[in-house]
Amino acid sequence: MDMVFDLIIKGAKIVDGTGNPWFKRDIGIIQGKIKILGEPMVEAKEIINAEGMTVSPGFVDLHNHNDLSVLAYPNLESHLMQGITTSVTGNCGLSMAPINPRNLDLLRTYLAAFLKPDIDYGWDWQSVKDYFQKVEKHGISMNLVPLVGQGTIRLAVKGFDSNAPSPEEMLKMKTLLRQSLEEGCFGMSSGLFYPPGSYCSTEELIELASVLKQYGAIYTIHLRNESNKLIESVEEAIRIAEENDIPLQISHHKAAGRVNWGKVNGSLKLMTEARQRGVEVNCDVYPYIAGSTMINSLLPTWVLEGGTAKMLQRLQDKGERNKIEGEIAGGTMHGENWIKSIGWNNIIIGGCPANSKYEGKSLEQIFREKGSSKTPCQVFFDWLLEISGEAIMILFGMDEDDVKTVISSPLSSIITDAWATSPGGGGKPHPRAYGTFPRAIRKYVREEKLFTLEEAIRKMTSLPAMKVGLQDRGIIRDGFWADLLVFDADKISDNASFAEPHQYPKGISYIIVNGQVVAKNGKLTGVQTGRVLIH
Ligand SMILES: [Zn+2]
Repeated sequence: MDMVFDLIIKGAKIVDGTGNPWFKRDIGIIQGKIKILGEPMVEAKEIINAEGMTVSPGFVDLHNHNDLSVLAYPNLESHLMQGITTSVTGNCGLSMAPINPRNLDLLRTYLAAFLKPDIDYGWDWQSVKDYFQKVEKHGISMNLVPLVGQGTIRLAVKGFDSNAPSPEEMLKMKTLLRQSLEEGCFGMSSGLFYPPGSYCSTEELIELASVLKQYGAIYTIHLRNESNKLIESVEEAIRIAEENDIPLQISHHKAAGRVNWGKVNGSLKLMTEARQRGVEVNCDVYPYIAGSTMINSLLPTWVLEGGTAKMLQRLQDKGERNKIEGEIAGGTMHGENWIKSIGWNNIIIGGCPANSKYEGKSLEQIFREKGSSKTPCQVFFDWLLEISGEAIMILFGMDEDDVKTVISSPLSSIITDAWATSPGGGGKPHPRAYGTFPRAIRKYVREEKLFTLEEAIRKMTSLPAMKVGLQDRGIIRDGFWADLLVFDADKISDNASFAEPHQYPKGISYIIVNGQVVAKNGKLTGVQTGRVLIH
């Protein structure tokens, strides 16, 4: 049989994504798909000589926040260059669709800190389908796997209203969820830490998630509490999945705040026990001891009832300020109290659209420079008003031993939890946006020998692909889509640090998406073969 391949990768060790030991074969690519080759001499339009290199499936990032990034950076450079070829979007309850035009401003102002001032996002879509079309219009470099956000659905129906939904509102939410799944979403995410997810009872979530079963769709969750109530929050997540018999993914698993370190042993045990009862639960983890999110998450979530404008109003009211301060400083705050659990000095500003001079500084440092005689909370409220409540923060709250515990569990996938940027993107974003996957290989495979390269690659490819429901990606196998990386297993490393985050990793020579080379030696080729995948 004479077959002319579009591309052949010759001589590399293949780490196929299953966790099996590497093997040596040539890989042929034809019409975007993989064919593992038996005979050494076959024809190809292009040959990559990969002697001494490793080939793996492209990384499947099960958890990130690229929903707005992909409109500002269609090539998602900081994610692509670390080897991600498929990005699961719409996490933590916040997807960019469906939108109810009446509540659009609530979503837009809530997410303002993620918006790049020089980009016109248009905001001209409503359904998930409209949004996909918008995203694909300008061409993309990697594949996107969309989830629909439970918070976004609730926002469309009820705004930032903390009351339980009426029967009619529940019906509306279910209809929006069904429509989004029919338009191609792979599952529903929720973020019970963020409003409006934080306003929902377990019963409300169980009822809405009941829609997922008939679509074979996954449920992902940013737990209600990842610190003092970690265990109870994992129990809640498992209950939602178990009552509905649906697959569950516990997002960015961690124990935040020194007093909670070590609790991941108990939470992983709960997951293992649930699996023994037949609940398909997994988790994911990023290889850093710091997280990153919006600054307004430091406030009790009732402060955001009604939206960002209401929050700013409350911050101008003396009585409300004292009430908020009482809850934060007194430790009576409902939900997660980061200020109390990690302190002002462990909260660093990563992005501040109103004034970039704050970027890279801790809140403690910012307040000290203000030289005010007020209490730290009051200075904080003044500062929030100054910046219109819009900033991204980086929170140093985890223990490296916990990261190792979770990342070594066979149940965990490795994720970025980041929003992609590019070297010109500004700010001091969390380095995970550039370094996550190469870092996990450098640190946990090469340096600390926590697990093998094959196991690391499994956690980055076949495990997340299987979990979200991709049946033809994440493994190097005949007939699977050719999303592939060619890298040097001895050299692949992250370069991004908290001080200098805008650094591409090193050691990756080729990034192939749907059979074509989209990046070569850290440079885009200009080919955009990514697409929005449909469930
Ligand atoms: Zn999250």
